[in-house]
Amino acid sequence: MLNRQGRPTAAGEAGTNEHPTFTGNKALAQVEPLLFEIGRADTTGVDLDEPASFTPRLGGQERKDAIGLPGLSEPETMRHYVRLSQMNYGIDTGLFPLGSCTMKHNARLNERMARLPGISDVHPLQPISTVQGALELMSELARYLMTLTGTKAVSLSPKAGAHGELCGMMAIKAAIEAKGEGKTRNVVLVPESAHGTNPATAALIGFVVKPVPARDDGWVHVDDVKKLLGPDVAAIMLTNPNTCGLFEPQVVEIAKAMHDAGAYFYCDGANFNAIVGKAKPGDLGIDAMHINLHKTFSTPHGGGGPGAGPVVLSERLAPFAPVPFVRAGKNGLELVEHEQDAPEKPFGRITAFHGQMGMYVRALAYMLSHGSDGMKQASEDAVLNANYIRAGLSDLFSQPFGDKPCMHEVLFDDTWLKDTGVTTLDFAKAMIDEGYHPMTMYFPLVVHGAMLIEPTESESKSALDLFIAALRDLAMSAKKGETERFTGAPYHAPRRRLDETRAARSPVLKWTPPAPMAEAAE
Ligand SMILES: *Cc1c(COP(=O)(O)O)cnc(C)c1O
Repeated sequence: MLNRQGRPTAAGEAGTNEHPTFTGNKALAQVEPLLFEIGRADTTGVDLDEPASFTPRLGGQERKDAIGLPGLSEPETMRHYVRLSQMNYGIDTGLFPLGSCTMKHNARLNERMARLPGISDVHPLQPISTVQGALELMSELARYLMTLTGTKAVSLSPKAGAHGELCGMMAIKAAIEAKGEGKTRNVVLVPESAHGTNPATAALIGFVVKPVPARDDGWVHVDDVKKLLGPDVAAIMLTNPNTCGLFEPQVVEIAKAMHDAGAYFYCDGANFNAIVGKAKPGDLGIDAMHINLHKTFSTPHGGGGPGAGPVVLSERLAPFAPVPFVRAGKNGLELVEHEQDAPEKPFGRITAFHGQMGMYVRALAYMLSHGSDGMKQASEDAVLNANYIRAGLSDLFSQPFGDKPCMHEVLFDDTWLKDTGVTTLDFAKAMIDEGYHPMTMYFPLVVHGAMLIEPTESESKSALDLFIAALRDLAMSAKKGETERFTGAPYHAPRRRLDETRAARSPVLKWTPPAPMAEAAE
Protein backbone atom coordinates (compact mmCIF):
# COMPACT_ATOMS: atom_id res chain seq x y z
CA MET A 1 0.00 0.00 0.00
CA LEU A 2 1.25 3.50 -0.86
CA ASN A 3 0.49 6.56 1.15
CA ARG A 4 -0.30 9.84 -0.52
CA GLN A 5 3.32 10.65 -1.05
CA GLY A 6 3.72 7.40 -2.90
CA ARG A 7 5.71 5.90 -0.06
CA PRO A 8 5.02 2.30 0.78
CA THR A 9 3.46 1.80 4.20
CA ALA A 10 3.73 -1.40 6.18
CA ALA A 11 0.59 -3.20 7.19
CA GLY A 12 -0.14 -2.55 10.83
CA GLU A 13 1.61 0.81 10.78
CA ALA A 14 0.15 3.35 13.14
CA GLY A 15 -1.60 5.06 10.25
CA THR A 16 -5.08 4.23 11.36
CA ASN A 17 -5.73 7.31 13.42
CA GLU A 18 -8.59 9.73 12.96
CA HIS A 19 -6.49 12.47 11.43
CA PRO A 20 -4.50 11.03 8.55
CA THR A 21 -1.85 13.34 7.17
CA PHE A 22 -0.91 13.81 3.53
CA THR A 23 2.68 12.69 4.07
CA GLY A 24 1.96 9.87 6.45
CA ASN A 25 4.16 11.65 8.99
CA LYS A 26 2.72 12.50 12.36
CA ALA A 27 4.34 15.77 13.26
CA LEU A 28 7.79 14.86 14.53
CA ALA A 29 7.20 11.14 14.06
CA GLN A 30 8.39 10.73 10.49
CA VAL A 31 7.64 7.79 8.28
CA GLU A 32 10.90 6.48 6.89
CA PRO A 33 10.93 3.88 4.14
CA LEU A 34 13.89 1.63 3.36
CA LEU A 35 16.93 3.10 1.70
CA PHE A 36 16.16 0.96 -1.34
CA GLU A 37 12.74 2.53 -1.58
CA ILE A 38 13.88 6.15 -1.53
CA GLY A 39 17.30 5.99 -3.19
CA ARG A 40 17.80 5.80 -6.91
CA ALA A 41 20.69 4.24 -8.74
CA ASP A 42 21.21 7.40 -10.81
CA THR A 43 21.54 9.71 -7.81
CA THR A 44 24.61 10.10 -5.70
CA GLY A 45 25.99 12.31 -2.99
CA VAL A 46 29.42 12.54 -4.59
CA ASP A 47 30.61 13.79 -7.92
CA LEU A 48 33.63 11.81 -9.03
CA ASP A 49 35.53 12.04 -12.31
CA GLU A 50 35.22 9.13 -14.69
CA PRO A 51 38.06 6.71 -13.92
CA ALA A 52 40.91 6.62 -16.40
CA SER A 53 40.61 3.72 -18.77
CA PHE A 54 42.16 0.47 -17.58
CA THR A 55 42.16 -3.19 -18.48
CA PRO A 56 40.40 -5.36 -15.93
CA ARG A 57 42.40 -8.34 -14.73
CA LEU A 58 39.49 -10.33 -13.33
CA GLY A 59 39.61 -13.06 -15.95
CA GLY A 60 36.26 -12.10 -17.44
CA GLN A 61 34.53 -12.17 -14.04
CA GLU A 62 34.09 -8.42 -13.87
CA ARG A 63 30.63 -6.95 -13.46
CA LYS A 64 29.00 -6.09 -16.78
CA ASP A 65 26.01 -4.09 -15.57
CA ALA A 66 25.65 -1.17 -13.21
CA ILE A 67 25.56 -2.31 -9.59
CA GLY A 68 22.23 -0.56 -8.95
CA LEU A 69 22.85 0.57 -5.39
CA PRO A 70 20.47 3.27 -4.21
CA GLY A 71 21.98 6.74 -4.18
CA LEU A 72 20.98 9.75 -2.11
CA SER A 73 22.32 13.25 -1.64
CA GLU A 74 24.23 13.90 1.56
CA PRO A 75 21.33 15.66 3.36
CA GLU A 76 18.95 12.88 2.33
CA THR A 77 21.37 10.27 3.62
CA MET A 78 21.76 12.12 6.88
CA ARG A 79 17.99 12.42 7.34
CA HIS A 80 17.44 8.77 6.54
CA TYR A 81 19.73 7.53 9.28
CA VAL A 82 18.77 10.17 11.83
CA ARG A 83 15.08 9.31 11.33
CA LEU A 84 15.81 5.62 11.75
CA SER A 85 17.80 6.34 14.90
CA GLN A 86 14.82 8.25 16.30
CA MET A 87 12.67 5.13 15.98
CA ASN A 88 15.08 3.30 18.25
CA TYR A 89 14.72 2.79 21.97
CA GLY A 90 17.97 2.62 23.86
CA ILE A 91 19.42 3.06 27.29
CA ASP A 92 19.97 6.75 26.44
CA THR A 93 16.25 7.17 25.66
CA GLY A 94 14.68 5.70 28.76
CA LEU A 95 14.65 3.04 31.46
CA PHE A 96 15.54 -0.30 29.89
CA PRO A 97 14.35 -2.95 32.35
CA LEU A 98 15.52 -6.10 30.53
CA GLY A 99 16.40 -8.69 33.14
CA SER A 100 19.34 -11.04 32.60
CA CYS A 101 20.82 -8.53 30.12
CA THR A 102 21.93 -5.68 32.40
CA MET A 103 21.27 -2.70 30.17
CA LYS A 104 23.61 -0.52 32.15
CA HIS A 105 24.37 3.16 31.57
CA ASN A 106 27.68 3.56 29.77
CA ALA A 107 29.23 6.76 31.04
CA ARG A 108 30.36 9.20 28.32
CA LEU A 109 33.77 9.28 29.96
CA ASN A 110 34.25 5.66 28.86
CA GLU A 111 33.50 6.65 25.28
CA ARG A 112 35.92 9.56 25.44
CA MET A 113 38.68 7.24 26.63
CA ALA A 114 37.98 4.63 23.94
CA ARG A 115 38.18 7.33 21.27
CA LEU A 116 41.54 8.73 22.34
CA PRO A 117 43.91 8.78 19.38
CA GLY A 118 46.43 5.99 19.78
CA ILE A 119 43.80 3.84 21.45
CA SER A 120 41.12 4.00 18.79
CA ASP A 121 43.59 3.36 15.94
CA VAL A 122 45.80 0.77 17.56
CA HIS A 123 46.31 -2.16 15.18
CA PRO A 124 46.74 -5.78 16.24
CA LEU A 125 49.71 -6.25 13.91
CA GLN A 126 51.73 -3.27 15.17
CA PRO A 127 55.25 -4.01 16.43
CA ILE A 128 55.18 -4.82 20.15
CA SER A 129 57.45 -1.90 21.01
CA THR A 130 54.77 0.51 19.72
CA VAL A 131 51.87 -0.94 21.73
CA GLN A 132 53.35 -1.05 25.22
CA GLY A 133 50.59 1.25 26.51
CA ALA A 134 47.86 -0.95 25.08
CA LEU A 135 49.44 -4.04 26.63
CA GLU A 136 49.76 -2.30 29.96
CA LEU A 137 46.08 -1.38 29.78
CA MET A 138 45.20 -5.02 29.09
CA SER A 139 47.35 -6.27 31.92
CA GLU A 140 45.85 -3.70 34.32
CA LEU A 141 42.35 -4.77 33.34
CA ALA A 142 43.34 -8.41 33.79
CA ARG A 143 44.75 -7.65 37.24
CA TYR A 144 41.54 -5.90 38.35
CA LEU A 145 39.38 -8.73 37.03
CA MET A 146 41.44 -11.29 38.94
CA THR A 147 41.33 -9.13 42.08
CA LEU A 148 37.58 -8.62 41.93
CA THR A 149 36.94 -12.31 41.35
CA GLY A 150 39.67 -13.76 43.57
CA THR A 151 41.14 -15.89 40.79
CA LYS A 152 44.59 -16.74 39.44
CA ALA A 153 44.34 -16.21 35.69
CA VAL A 154 42.24 -14.52 33.09
CA SER A 155 41.83 -14.86 29.37
CA LEU A 156 40.71 -11.55 27.93
CA SER A 157 40.16 -12.61 24.35
CA PRO A 158 36.59 -14.08 24.27
CA LYS A 159 34.24 -11.72 22.50
CA ALA A 160 30.96 -12.33 24.31
CA GLY A 161 29.56 -14.13 27.32
CA ALA A 162 28.76 -17.23 25.31
CA HIS A 163 32.24 -17.16 23.79
CA GLY A 164 33.66 -16.91 27.32
CA GLU A 165 31.64 -19.95 28.32
CA LEU A 166 33.19 -21.81 25.42
CA CYS A 167 36.66 -20.70 26.48
CA GLY A 168 36.14 -21.73 30.11
CA MET A 169 34.65 -25.08 29.18
CA MET A 170 37.52 -25.75 26.77
CA ALA A 171 39.96 -25.08 29.62
CA ILE A 172 38.01 -27.60 31.74
CA LYS A 173 38.08 -30.10 28.90
CA ALA A 174 41.84 -29.65 28.52
CA ALA A 175 42.35 -30.15 32.27
CA ILE A 176 40.30 -33.35 32.19
CA GLU A 177 42.22 -34.64 29.18
CA ALA A 178 45.52 -33.83 30.89
CA LYS A 179 44.43 -36.10 33.75
CA GLY A 180 43.70 -38.87 31.25
CA GLU A 181 39.96 -38.71 31.92
CA GLY A 182 38.92 -37.31 28.57
CA LYS A 183 37.10 -40.49 27.58
CA THR A 184 35.22 -41.04 30.83
CA ARG A 185 34.21 -37.59 32.06
CA ASN A 186 31.76 -36.37 29.47
CA VAL A 187 28.72 -35.13 31.42
CA VAL A 188 28.00 -31.50 32.30
CA LEU A 189 25.28 -30.66 34.84
CA VAL A 190 23.15 -27.62 34.01
CA PRO A 191 20.26 -26.38 36.18
CA GLU A 192 16.94 -26.08 34.38
CA SER A 193 16.82 -22.35 35.03
CA ALA A 194 20.13 -21.74 33.19
CA HIS A 195 20.57 -19.36 30.29
CA GLY A 196 20.29 -21.27 27.01
CA THR A 197 23.91 -20.61 26.16
CA ASN A 198 25.06 -22.89 29.01
CA PRO A 199 23.72 -26.21 27.68
CA ALA A 200 24.49 -25.07 24.13
CA THR A 201 28.15 -24.44 25.02
CA ALA A 202 28.55 -27.79 26.75
CA ALA A 203 26.91 -29.65 23.87
CA LEU A 204 28.95 -27.79 21.26
CA ILE A 205 32.21 -29.21 22.56
CA GLY A 206 30.86 -32.72 22.91
CA PHE A 207 29.64 -32.93 26.50
CA VAL A 208 26.38 -34.68 27.38
CA VAL A 209 24.11 -32.22 29.20
CA LYS A 210 22.19 -33.43 32.26
CA PRO A 211 19.64 -31.05 33.79
CA VAL A 212 19.53 -30.35 37.51
CA PRO A 213 15.78 -30.13 38.25
CA ALA A 214 14.25 -26.85 39.38
CA ARG A 215 12.80 -26.60 42.89
CA ASP A 216 9.89 -24.57 44.18
CA ASP A 217 12.17 -22.15 45.99
CA GLY A 218 14.20 -21.14 42.91
CA TRP A 219 17.49 -22.44 44.32
CA VAL A 220 19.80 -25.25 43.23
CA HIS A 221 20.19 -27.77 46.05
CA VAL A 222 23.43 -29.56 46.77
CA ASP A 223 21.49 -32.80 47.39
CA ASP A 224 20.10 -32.70 43.86
CA VAL A 225 23.61 -32.11 42.50
CA LYS A 226 25.12 -34.94 44.57
CA LYS A 227 22.53 -37.37 43.21
CA LEU A 228 23.84 -36.71 39.70
CA LEU A 229 27.55 -36.82 40.54
CA GLY A 230 29.72 -39.72 39.41
CA PRO A 231 33.00 -40.50 37.65
CA ASP A 232 31.39 -39.45 34.37
CA VAL A 233 30.72 -35.85 35.46
CA ALA A 234 33.12 -33.22 34.15
CA ALA A 235 31.58 -30.02 35.49
CA ILE A 236 28.53 -28.07 36.57
CA MET A 237 27.56 -24.80 34.93
CA LEU A 238 25.84 -22.72 37.57
CA THR A 239 24.76 -19.08 37.36
CA ASN A 240 25.16 -17.06 40.53
CA PRO A 241 23.23 -14.93 41.28
CA ASN A 242 20.93 -17.18 39.29
CA THR A 243 18.55 -16.30 36.48
CA CYS A 244 15.66 -16.11 38.97
CA GLY A 245 17.46 -13.13 40.53
CA LEU A 246 18.41 -15.11 43.65
CA PHE A 247 21.79 -15.72 45.25
CA GLU A 248 22.48 -19.46 45.48
CA PRO A 249 22.81 -20.09 49.23
CA GLN A 250 24.44 -23.53 48.79
CA VAL A 251 27.03 -22.42 46.26
CA VAL A 252 29.99 -23.26 48.53
CA GLU A 253 28.65 -26.76 49.26
CA ILE A 254 28.00 -27.32 45.56
CA ALA A 255 31.59 -26.28 44.71
CA LYS A 256 32.95 -28.66 47.34
CA ALA A 257 30.78 -31.53 46.10
CA MET A 258 32.06 -30.98 42.56
CA HIS A 259 35.69 -30.88 43.63
CA ASP A 260 35.33 -33.95 45.87
CA ALA A 261 33.97 -35.80 42.84
CA GLY A 262 36.97 -34.74 40.71
CA ALA A 263 34.87 -32.34 38.64
CA TYR A 264 34.98 -28.60 37.96
CA PHE A 265 32.73 -25.67 38.75
CA TYR A 266 31.94 -23.35 35.84
CA CYS A 267 30.11 -20.25 37.00
CA ASP A 268 28.09 -18.20 34.55
CA GLY A 269 29.11 -14.73 35.70
CA ALA A 270 26.67 -12.69 33.63
CA ASN A 271 25.07 -11.53 36.88
CA PHE A 272 28.35 -10.50 38.51
CA ASN A 273 27.11 -6.89 38.65
CA ALA A 274 25.03 -7.83 41.70
CA ILE A 275 28.05 -8.85 43.78
CA VAL A 276 31.12 -6.96 42.49
CA GLY A 277 33.05 -5.67 45.49
CA LYS A 278 30.85 -7.72 47.84
CA ALA A 279 31.83 -11.35 47.17
CA LYS A 280 34.68 -12.98 45.26
CA PRO A 281 33.57 -15.94 43.16
CA GLY A 282 37.02 -17.50 43.68
CA ASP A 283 36.28 -17.63 47.43
CA LEU A 284 33.05 -19.44 46.63
CA GLY A 285 35.02 -22.18 44.88
CA ILE A 286 34.51 -21.46 41.19
CA ASP A 287 37.06 -22.79 38.67
CA ALA A 288 36.04 -20.71 35.67
CA MET A 289 33.71 -17.79 35.14
CA HIS A 290 33.07 -15.47 32.25
CA ILE A 291 32.49 -11.80 32.88
CA ASN A 292 30.31 -9.90 30.44
CA LEU A 293 32.13 -6.56 30.33
CA HIS A 294 29.07 -5.34 28.43
CA LYS A 295 26.84 -6.14 31.38
CA THR A 296 28.87 -5.71 34.55
CA PHE A 297 31.38 -3.10 33.51
CA SER A 298 29.02 -0.86 31.55
CA THR A 299 30.45 -1.26 28.06
CA PRO A 300 27.59 -0.99 25.55
CA HIS A 301 25.91 -4.01 24.03
CA GLY A 302 23.10 -4.94 21.75
CA GLY A 303 22.79 -5.01 18.03
CA GLY A 304 25.23 -7.87 17.81
CA GLY A 305 28.19 -6.46 19.63
CA PRO A 306 30.99 -5.94 19.99
CA GLY A 307 30.95 -7.28 23.50
CA ALA A 308 33.71 -8.86 25.54
CA GLY A 309 33.57 -11.92 27.75
CA PRO A 310 36.86 -12.39 29.60
CA VAL A 311 37.15 -15.64 31.53
CA VAL A 312 38.77 -15.89 34.93
CA LEU A 313 40.30 -19.21 35.91
CA SER A 314 41.19 -20.85 39.21
CA GLU A 315 44.69 -22.12 40.00
CA ARG A 316 43.65 -25.59 38.78
CA LEU A 317 42.68 -24.29 35.35
CA ALA A 318 45.21 -21.47 34.95
CA PRO A 319 47.80 -23.66 33.14
CA PHE A 320 45.28 -24.30 30.36
CA ALA A 321 44.42 -20.65 29.66
CA PRO A 322 44.55 -20.01 25.92
CA VAL A 323 46.97 -17.76 24.06
CA PRO A 324 47.39 -14.88 23.57
CA PHE A 325 48.22 -13.33 26.93
CA VAL A 326 50.39 -10.47 28.13
CA ARG A 327 53.45 -11.03 30.32
CA ALA A 328 56.45 -9.06 31.47
CA GLY A 329 59.50 -9.78 29.32
CA LYS A 330 63.09 -8.54 29.12
CA ASN A 331 62.18 -5.53 26.97
CA GLY A 332 58.91 -4.54 28.57
CA LEU A 333 55.55 -6.22 28.15
CA GLU A 334 55.22 -8.95 25.56
CA LEU A 335 52.42 -10.93 24.04
CA VAL A 336 52.60 -14.69 24.15
CA GLU A 337 51.06 -15.61 20.81
CA HIS A 338 52.02 -19.25 20.36
CA GLU A 339 51.34 -22.24 22.56
CA GLN A 340 54.96 -23.41 22.38
CA ASP A 341 56.12 -20.10 23.90
CA ALA A 342 54.01 -20.59 27.02
CA PRO A 343 55.51 -22.31 30.04
CA GLU A 344 52.26 -24.16 30.71
CA LYS A 345 49.76 -26.01 28.51
CA PRO A 346 47.40 -23.53 26.78
CA PHE A 347 44.51 -25.33 25.11
CA GLY A 348 45.05 -23.23 21.98
CA ARG A 349 43.45 -19.98 20.98
CA ILE A 350 39.82 -19.10 20.43
CA THR A 351 40.02 -15.88 18.49
CA ALA A 352 42.23 -14.13 16.00
CA PHE A 353 44.22 -11.36 17.64
CA HIS A 354 43.55 -10.25 21.20
CA GLY A 355 39.88 -9.47 21.67
CA GLN A 356 37.94 -6.21 21.86
CA MET A 357 40.39 -3.44 22.71
CA GLY A 358 37.70 -0.74 22.80
CA MET A 359 35.74 -2.70 25.37
CA TYR A 360 38.82 -3.15 27.54
CA VAL A 361 39.32 0.61 27.57
CA ARG A 362 35.69 1.31 28.51
CA ALA A 363 35.68 -1.34 31.26
CA LEU A 364 38.94 -0.06 32.76
CA ALA A 365 37.65 3.54 32.61
CA TYR A 366 34.53 2.36 34.45
CA MET A 367 36.58 0.62 37.12
CA LEU A 368 39.03 3.47 37.64
CA SER A 369 36.35 6.15 37.74
CA HIS A 370 34.32 4.19 40.30
CA GLY A 371 37.15 2.98 42.47
CA SER A 372 36.67 -0.04 44.72
CA ASP A 373 34.16 1.77 46.93
CA GLY A 374 32.20 2.96 43.88
CA MET A 375 31.99 -0.51 42.34
CA LYS A 376 30.77 -1.91 45.63
CA GLN A 377 28.16 0.84 45.83
CA ALA A 378 27.05 0.16 42.25
CA SER A 379 26.33 -3.46 43.23
CA GLU A 380 24.48 -2.37 46.36
CA ASP A 381 22.42 0.18 44.45
CA ALA A 382 21.59 -2.32 41.70
CA VAL A 383 20.22 -4.70 44.35
CA LEU A 384 18.46 -1.89 46.21
CA ASN A 385 16.76 -0.63 43.03
CA ALA A 386 15.50 -4.10 42.09
CA ASN A 387 14.12 -4.60 45.59
CA TYR A 388 12.51 -1.16 45.49
CA ILE A 389 10.61 -2.23 42.39
CA ARG A 390 9.74 -5.56 44.01
CA ALA A 391 8.36 -3.81 47.07
CA GLY A 392 6.48 -1.31 44.92
CA LEU A 393 4.71 -3.99 42.92
CA SER A 394 4.46 -7.00 45.23
CA ASP A 395 0.84 -6.31 46.29
CA LEU A 396 -0.32 -6.46 42.66
CA PHE A 397 2.12 -8.82 40.95
CA SER A 398 2.88 -12.43 41.94
CA GLN A 399 6.37 -13.75 42.67
CA PRO A 400 7.04 -17.40 41.83
CA PHE A 401 9.28 -18.11 44.80
CA GLY A 402 7.46 -16.14 47.46
CA ASP A 403 7.97 -12.59 48.63
CA LYS A 404 11.68 -12.78 49.42
CA PRO A 405 14.45 -10.30 48.67
CA CYS A 406 16.07 -10.53 45.26
CA MET A 407 19.47 -9.55 43.95
CA HIS A 408 19.85 -7.12 41.02
CA GLU A 409 16.71 -8.28 39.19
CA VAL A 410 13.21 -9.13 40.31
CA LEU A 411 11.18 -11.98 38.87
CA PHE A 412 7.39 -12.04 38.61
CA ASP A 413 5.18 -14.70 37.05
CA ASP A 414 1.73 -14.45 35.45
CA THR A 415 -0.37 -16.00 38.24
CA TRP A 416 -1.73 -12.54 39.01
CA LEU A 417 -2.99 -12.17 35.42
CA LYS A 418 -5.10 -15.33 35.64
CA ASP A 419 -8.69 -14.76 34.40
CA THR A 420 -7.92 -11.21 33.24
CA GLY A 421 -7.65 -12.18 29.57
CA VAL A 422 -4.26 -10.44 29.51
CA THR A 423 -1.05 -12.38 28.91
CA THR A 424 2.55 -11.52 29.75
CA LEU A 425 3.03 -10.63 26.08
CA ASP A 426 0.00 -8.30 26.08
CA PHE A 427 1.25 -6.61 29.22
CA ALA A 428 4.68 -6.08 27.68
CA LYS A 429 3.12 -4.57 24.55
CA ALA A 430 1.10 -2.13 26.67
CA MET A 431 4.35 -1.05 28.36
CA ILE A 432 5.57 0.09 24.93
CA ASP A 433 2.62 2.50 24.73
CA GLU A 434 3.73 3.92 28.07
CA GLY A 435 7.18 4.59 26.60
CA TYR A 436 9.05 1.71 28.22
CA HIS A 437 11.02 -1.07 26.67
CA PRO A 438 9.42 -4.25 28.03
CA MET A 439 11.17 -6.34 30.63
CA THR A 440 12.52 -9.79 29.76
CA MET A 441 9.54 -12.05 29.13
CA TYR A 442 9.10 -15.81 29.37
CA PHE A 443 12.63 -16.28 30.75
CA PRO A 444 13.68 -18.14 32.83
CA LEU A 445 11.66 -20.96 31.29
CA VAL A 446 11.02 -22.62 34.65
CA VAL A 447 8.61 -19.82 35.58
CA HIS A 448 5.23 -19.55 33.84
CA GLY A 449 4.76 -16.25 32.01
CA ALA A 450 7.99 -14.90 33.55
CA MET A 451 8.59 -11.13 33.75
CA LEU A 452 12.17 -10.41 34.74
CA ILE A 453 12.91 -6.78 35.61
CA GLU A 454 16.38 -5.32 36.11
CA PRO A 455 16.49 -1.56 36.64
CA THR A 456 20.30 -1.29 37.19
CA GLU A 457 21.96 0.99 39.71
CA SER A 458 21.97 4.14 37.61
CA GLU A 459 18.21 4.81 37.66
CA SER A 460 17.17 7.57 40.06
CA LYS A 461 14.44 7.18 42.65
CA SER A 462 12.11 9.42 40.65
CA ALA A 463 12.67 7.34 37.50
CA LEU A 464 11.88 4.18 39.46
CA ASP A 465 8.80 5.79 41.02
CA LEU A 466 7.42 6.70 37.61
CA PHE A 467 8.15 3.22 36.28
CA ILE A 468 6.43 1.60 39.26
CA ALA A 469 3.45 3.96 38.95
CA ALA A 470 3.11 3.14 35.23
CA LEU A 471 3.24 -0.60 35.89
CA ARG A 472 0.73 -0.27 38.74
CA ASP A 473 -1.64 1.65 36.51
CA LEU A 474 -1.39 -1.05 33.86
CA ALA A 475 -1.82 -3.82 36.43
CA MET A 476 -4.96 -2.26 37.89
CA SER A 477 -6.32 -1.71 34.41
CA ALA A 478 -5.78 -5.42 33.62
CA LYS A 479 -7.46 -6.45 36.85
CA LYS A 480 -10.42 -4.16 36.12
CA GLY A 481 -11.01 -6.01 32.84
CA GLU A 482 -9.80 -3.25 30.50
CA THR A 483 -8.42 -5.90 28.17
CA GLU A 484 -8.54 -3.74 25.07
CA ARG A 485 -5.70 -1.60 26.42
CA PHE A 486 -3.54 -4.74 26.23
CA THR A 487 -4.71 -7.07 23.50
CA GLY A 488 -4.43 -4.41 20.79
CA ALA A 489 -1.25 -2.81 22.13
CA PRO A 490 0.95 -1.17 21.14
CA TYR A 491 -1.36 1.54 19.83
CA HIS A 492 1.18 4.34 19.66
CA ALA A 493 4.31 2.65 18.30
CA PRO A 494 5.37 3.20 14.67
CA ARG A 495 4.56 -0.47 14.08
CA ARG A 496 1.58 -2.15 15.71
CA ARG A 497 1.61 -5.72 16.94
CA LEU A 498 3.31 -7.95 14.42
CA ASP A 499 2.25 -11.45 13.53
CA GLU A 500 5.19 -13.17 15.18
CA THR A 501 4.03 -16.66 14.29
CA ARG A 502 3.78 -15.79 10.62
CA ALA A 503 7.13 -14.01 10.76
CA ALA A 504 8.73 -17.16 12.18
CA ARG A 505 6.90 -19.63 9.92
CA SER A 506 7.13 -17.78 6.62
CA PRO A 507 9.81 -15.13 6.95
CA VAL A 508 10.22 -12.74 4.03
CA LEU A 509 13.96 -12.71 3.59
CA LYS A 510 14.22 -10.97 0.24
CA TRP A 511 13.36 -7.37 -0.49
CA THR A 512 11.32 -6.87 -3.63
CA PRO A 513 10.94 -3.45 -5.19
CA PRO A 514 7.58 -1.80 -4.55
CA ALA A 515 5.21 -1.50 -7.52
CA PRO A 516 5.92 1.53 -9.68
CA MET A 517 4.18 4.63 -8.39
CA ALA A 518 1.12 5.89 -10.18
CA GLU A 519 -0.78 9.04 -9.43
CA ALA A 520 -3.88 8.13 -7.49
CA ALA A 521 -7.06 8.50 -9.54
CA GLU A 522 -9.39 11.13 -8.20
C1 LIG B 1 23.86 -12.54 28.71
C2 LIG B 1 24.01 -13.86 29.32
C3 LIG B 1 24.81 -14.85 28.72
C4 LIG B 1 25.44 -14.71 27.36
O1 LIG B 1 26.23 -13.57 27.18
P1 LIG B 1 26.46 -12.93 25.73
O2 LIG B 1 27.45 -11.86 25.94
O3 LIG B 1 25.11 -12.43 25.30
O4 LIG B 1 26.93 -14.02 24.83
C5 LIG B 1 24.98 -16.03 29.40
N1 LIG B 1 24.37 -16.26 30.57
C6 LIG B 1 23.57 -15.34 31.16
C7 LIG B 1 22.94 -15.66 32.50
C8 LIG B 1 23.35 -14.12 30.56
O5 LIG B 1 22.56 -13.21 31.13
